[in-house]
Amino acid sequence: MTGVKSLYVHIPFCTTKCPYCSFAVAAGQLKQEGAYVEALSRERVPERLRLQTVYIGGGTPSCLSTEALARLFADTRARFDIADGAEITFEMNPESVDVPKARLLCSLGVNRISLGVQSLHDPTLQALGRPHRREGAVRAFEILRSAGFDNVNVDMIYGLPGQSRDDVMTDLGRLLTLGSEHVSLYALNIEERSLFFARRVDVDQDAQGELYTEVCRRMEEAGVYQYEISNFSRPGFESRHNINYWEGGDYLGLGMSAHSHIAGERFWNADTLPAYLDLMNAKGSARTGSERLPPHEKLVETFLFGLRMNRGVDLDRLEQAFGLEMSMDKKEAIEGFFEMGLLEEQGEHIRATAHGRLVLDEVSARII
Ligand code: SF4
Repeated sequence: MTGVKSLYVHIPFCTTKCPYCSFAVAAGQLKQEGAYVEALSRERVPERLRLQTVYIGGGTPSCLSTEALARLFADTRARFDIADGAEITFEMNPESVDVPKARLLCSLGVNRISLGVQSLHDPTLQALGRPHRREGAVRAFEILRSAGFDNVNVDMIYGLPGQSRDDVMTDLGRLLTLGSEHVSLYALNIEERSLFFARRVDVDQDAQGELYTEVCRRMEEAGVYQYEISNFSRPGFESRHNINYWEGGDYLGLGMSAHSHIAGERFWNADTLPAYLDLMNAKGSARTGSERLPPHEKLVETFLFGLRMNRGVDLDRLEQAFGLEMSMDKKEAIEGFFEMGLLEEQGEHIRATAHGRLVLDEVSARII
């Protein structure tokens, strides 16, 4: 347990559910925020952990009232030892950013905001079912800056049906004018649990692949460097919390649907609000499942996560850390991808080439 340096807290509330969303959310149930934050404070935590990163995600954490936010942070600080200089990220959506909330979060020690902008083009926001518009997103960003946040991520979605290359590049250009330190760019994916899936919305994956190459190039020109498949930052502003995931590190997750990974065991909580609250009330634990990956599988999984990062992964060091060697058939598969130009060596690291990043899911599936 002492290896855990990262805490994720899931806040499931959203005003409505966006049609592309497949996350575990509790739409329109904010009246339960008091019971939820109270239940979070009762989740069992085996020992006092010293945290280097805290990530409050959702859902829409910013829709919590100021009272609920103050309680959430008071409980978290009482139960965990948050290291000086720890990265504390809070997710916000533009429609629930206001001056008092931004100032409160700053005073509570939040030092990184992830803002769900998604687009700065009103028809695109409408197509995504988002409640905010361009003007609201720009205003929210300005409020965050005025409150003192100097480490802000903005999310953007591209590759919607009917969206042209010019639409995407214009949208990205506008996003870049905000001057955020970090940008997460996602091609629209139609997930099974989403309304878009039920409506049979279709995306053109080939066109999305071409757009991906273009947006990566544009980000590089803007000096916002890619360090992971979907993530770009100015130097020094990479997400430490997410890098811990990609390096296969341990983390504790609290809240509805939250997953944890500690000392080789993965476990997770109930993924609906009623089930989470009922279990917490009945048992003081909302855990509904766990698994322990055999070390060989965990080694391969950690290697594949490492390939998501542009710097790649040092396989020799990974094998030393695990005290294991990757099997010959997997190493042969990796050799094959070198020959195909999808993976390459750089110093001690193996990493995906620009072409390999386009098809990393297929590469990973073949190595597994
Ligand atoms: S996409 Fe975000 S804001 Fe929309 S429903 Fe999902 S979690 Fe909530």
